[in-house]
Amino acid sequence: MATLTSNNPATGEPVGEVPVTPAEAIADLVARARAAQPAWGAIEPQDRADILRPAAAAIASRAKELSELLTREMGKPVREAKGEILSCGGDALERELADMVEALRPETLHSERAVSTIYRDAYGVCAAITPWNFPFSMPHWMCLPALMAGNAVILKPSEETPLIAQAYVDIVSEVLPDDVLQVVHGADDQGKALVESNVDMIAFTGSRETGKHILGAAAKHLKRAVLELGGKDPLIVLSDADMAKAARFAVRNSFRNAGQVCISTERIYVPEAAADDFVAAMAEETAKLTVGDGMQSDTRVGPMINRRQRDHVRAQIDDAVSRGARLVRGGESEGDSLFLTPAILDGVDHDMAVARDETFGPVACVIRVASDDEAVNLANDTPFGLGAVVFGAPDHAARVARRLTAGMIGVNQGCGGVAGSPWVGARESGYGFHSSRDGHRQFAQTRVVTQARG
Ligand code: ADP
Repeated sequence: MATLTSNNPATGEPVGEVPVTPAEAIADLVARARAAQPAWGAIEPQDRADILRPAAAAIASRAKELSELLTREMGKPVREAKGEILSCGGDALERELADMVEALRPETLHSERAVSTIYRDAYGVCAAITPWNFPFSMPHWMCLPALMAGNAVILKPSEETPLIAQAYVDIVSEVLPDDVLQVVHGADDQGKALVESNVDMIAFTGSRETGKHILGAAAKHLKRAVLELGGKDPLIVLSDADMAKAARFAVRNSFRNAGQVCISTERIYVPEAAADDFVAAMAEETAKLTVGDGMQSDTRVGPMINRRQRDHVRAQIDDAVSRGARLVRGGESEGDSLFLTPAILDGVDHDMAVARDETFGPVACVIRVASDDEAVNLANDTPFGLGAVVFGAPDHAARVARRLTAGMIGVNQGCGGVAGSPWVGARESGYGFHSSRDGHRQFAQTRVVTQARG
């Protein structure tokens, strides 16, 4: 049987392997899921939550071991890996289960002549296809709401991070009936076969290009799809911003997870008059970041996931420099090493690839602007629309925020909303959304039963 070897991006050494699922076996897995689903779907949401609840303690109690596996397989600093694991277990999971029970609770509407009850039922079988950059929380984000809505789920994790995804499935499957959660290992062929198979819904997080393929394939049978795609998030720094704070944020949000985050800051618009000082502050802050193996406690920036991604980022940097941008610092990597030192580019032009195409790497690019209007127009001049951030005096920044076309906008902070907010991409960054009451409901079929009175 073919196997998929997972390698440590920091050392190149194998971490482990999983059997590849033959694409022709996927139809059988879906048939098993379909057979298991009605009994699972018949359980009340509150009871499903009770069944899933022991996974919370199991994940939390294994956080150290899981975070080390995550770091060895994917590269991020182990402290961040632990945060990712804990965000999926313990109290966090308990709260999510409670929120999902509320979201799925039937509602009634009354008129003089009838009573309507709005139910949120399962679709049936849901495929979840996930990326490698948050290799534990992404499977969790896709699978949990689908399971809680009563679906059976088949997860196809990224071929870069099969081991930590398998660990997730093993823990959660422990508390579930057989075949309610299954895993498919492999790459694009397995992803395509799963999308083409007899599933009812597809939840996908990944690139915009793959999202378009998936939506196209789903459209043939009008399968439901929830897609969370890439971004090219702008950060607008206004002239009345706290520059030191904005520069710290810019560095943190450009280089966290080596920039391999869908809501990374990918474009920074700074007023011309403030730009020299701002760039100098960013450079000073960036110099504090230790690049290295995520298993070492002082590491703040780990390796990139693979050579293709590293080369893509280096090509964008080279292209920008050849067109007149200034490489303030960073951008170095040696030989086959997947480490790329955090790069700051100044004087980036909006037409350069680094300003237009998703980078997904440790690059901060500064674009100098003459006015708020120019910053807003350039920030919105993109097919993407995931996150955006504005730093400035609170009222001023809030006004600018309302002019941005992204789905999630942070004012003097990151773009993520407080608990209960949706995670939503506008334009080509998303199709549907998740989290929040309405997001959880996207994994369920709404059904209305209206009964005549009397
Ligand atoms: P990345 O470039 O980060 O691998 P992709 O969007 O290409 O991001 O892939 C994300 C996930 O989608 C992976 O699990 C991958 O195997 C899967 N995949 C890639 N192409 C397809 C496709 N055409 N249909 C379904 N899944 C796919």
